[in-house]
Amino acid sequence: MTLKPSDRILGIDLGTTNSLAAAVLPQGPEALTPPGAPGPLVPSVAVRVEGRWVAGRQAVPHRLTRPGDTFFSIKRLMGRGLEDLAEELPRIPYRVEGGDRKLVKVMADGQGFTPQEISAQILKEVKAGAEAALGESIRRAVITVPAYFDDAQRQATRDAGRMAGLEVERILNEPTAAALAYGLEQKAKGLVAVYDLGGGTFDISILRLDGQVFQVVATHGNTHLGGDDLDHALAEHLAARHPAAPLAEPLAKAALLREAERVKRKLSAALECDYRIDLGAGALSGRVTREELNALAAPLVAATLESCRAALAMGQVDPQQITEVVMVGGMSRVALVRQEVERFFGRRPNVAINPDEVVAVGAAVHGHMLGGHRKDYVLLDVNPLALGLETMGGTFTKIINANSTIPAQATEYFTTSADNQTAVELNIYQGEREFVRDCRNLGRFKLGGLPPMAAGLPKVKVTFTVDANGILTVAAEEERSGKAASIEVIPSHGLTSREIDRIMEDAVEHGMEDLTMRQLVEFRLTAQAVFRGIEKAWPQAQALFTPETQQAIRVQMTQVSAAAEGRDPWRLKAEMDRLGDLTRPLADAIISTAALRELKEFYQEHKERETP
Ligand code: AMP
Repeated sequence: MTLKPSDRILGIDLGTTNSLAAAVLPQGPEALTPPGAPGPLVPSVAVRVEGRWVAGRQAVPHRLTRPGDTFFSIKRLMGRGLEDLAEELPRIPYRVEGGDRKLVKVMADGQGFTPQEISAQILKEVKAGAEAALGESIRRAVITVPAYFDDAQRQATRDAGRMAGLEVERILNEPTAAALAYGLEQKAKGLVAVYDLGGGTFDISILRLDGQVFQVVATHGNTHLGGDDLDHALAEHLAARHPAAPLAEPLAKAALLREAERVKRKLSAALECDYRIDLGAGALSGRVTREELNALAAPLVAATLESCRAALAMGQVDPQQITEVVMVGGMSRVALVRQEVERFFGRRPNVAINPDEVVAVGAAVHGHMLGGHRKDYVLLDVNPLALGLETMGGTFTKIINANSTIPAQATEYFTTSADNQTAVELNIYQGEREFVRDCRNLGRFKLGGLPPMAAGLPKVKVTFTVDANGILTVAAEEERSGKAASIEVIPSHGLTSREIDRIMEDAVEHGMEDLTMRQLVEFRLTAQAVFRGIEKAWPQAQALFTPETQQAIRVQMTQVSAAAEGRDPWRLKAEMDRLGDLTRPLADAIISTAALRELKEFYQEHKERETP
């Protein structure tokens, strides 16, 4: 069958357990159900069978028969290295190994596959289902990710889309998509809480809506909390009623768990529900009430509200300030969840849209807007590459990260590295690398006329603002003297998306070596600062330390200098730590005096950076 090519931008929710696509149809936005499928959800599962990939619904049964080759929860591995995954690995039955550039690979058929490749298989299945539902061939999509996903995770998602043959028009935050599905961007201002409780994860996001733009104020959550926990609790509750039944056998256990999940769903609508667990030789049956389920769900719900409290605190928001609450995830149908969320925020949550579909629907709405169907809606854009400043040693300090939603604003404080500096130069770059020589220079300006002060004393507040059109303004103010200056630059001017891709790829390729070099430069700078601190404090040191200890400090300083000449950041760090141990009493004694700020900072591992 040949499908008619379409320019439509599909919305895709690439989830941990399930994925799905949605599109804006003449009758409105809708999740797409592939012909013959029971619903729009495509299980996020892929398996290698005889050298070929099988993904989605057909892959699910293989989880039992071929656990080593059947990949699920792959979203948890996207853009992560082995060291990020210590908590995940014990829960995963398939083999995960360290791959190139610190990213992981999963093993099947004696080959390694990246999480991107596995996700691409799932996306292909979603795309094929959507194409069959629409009768169109699709090439463009908006794909959603959790608000807390970092650059690497977003980039991995984008790559998965590309591998699936999709042009990824936008990576959109899941809570933003949910808010768009409800048309909340139409309200001029407000604070939106998006409560997302799925099978295995919980996320709370607080979004600030200002002039049709959502900014993430705070996120919190638990990557191992969700409906599965309630299924297990209910299964145990049921098993306890039948102490003589052989429920420890794997098949009986699976049947019990399946029945528990079914009963849990039923109790969202009904006040009681009968259960029946077939054990071959006989069956167990009985009745469960919603009250019983509520008692089992209470600790889980309490844990989610704890996260809500933490997110509100992080964003410095009171629950009463929240103007809209949006519910996402299948578990948000549970009666107790709705009731407690309503009580917590003091307002009725938005539940009208199917919580399994609301993210995909929002992504479709966003795709529709991007496709030019709503001309008034050009906002909610993202900044393609990080923007920042050159710092000591030619390092690049990012101030606004790639993929930040614009308009965006961020502020950092800098100081001087030499005494009596009357000007600081701000050198603005765009890129993803650790050193400015590998980034793109956007402009420079000088903040002059500063009164002479000791190094480290000036407080230069630098604010990067990207407006809705992608125009960057950089403003600097020395807070002690009130001197200020600013410059406007156009960061993406002349940069094609191909160049962006190349820069992104380079960044991944050189990530490790860059990072090592950067670490070395930073440790060297810290060492210099520490030496300055020690020299300044030497009169106190002589009073405080025995001649032997003073000698030991001097010897250790030469060790640090020798390591600083070398190229191994970790050796330098080790020598500095040793010096730190020797001089700690000195630091403790004088830590409060302003003259020894550098020392104090060193001991507190304070990260304030210095401008050249
Ligand atoms: P998600 O990860 O968003 O697909 O959410 C799936 C979770 O929602 C699973 O734990 C399901 O058991 C649960 N779920 C789906 N429908 C319902 C329902 N009607 N009532 C209670 N839980 C549900």
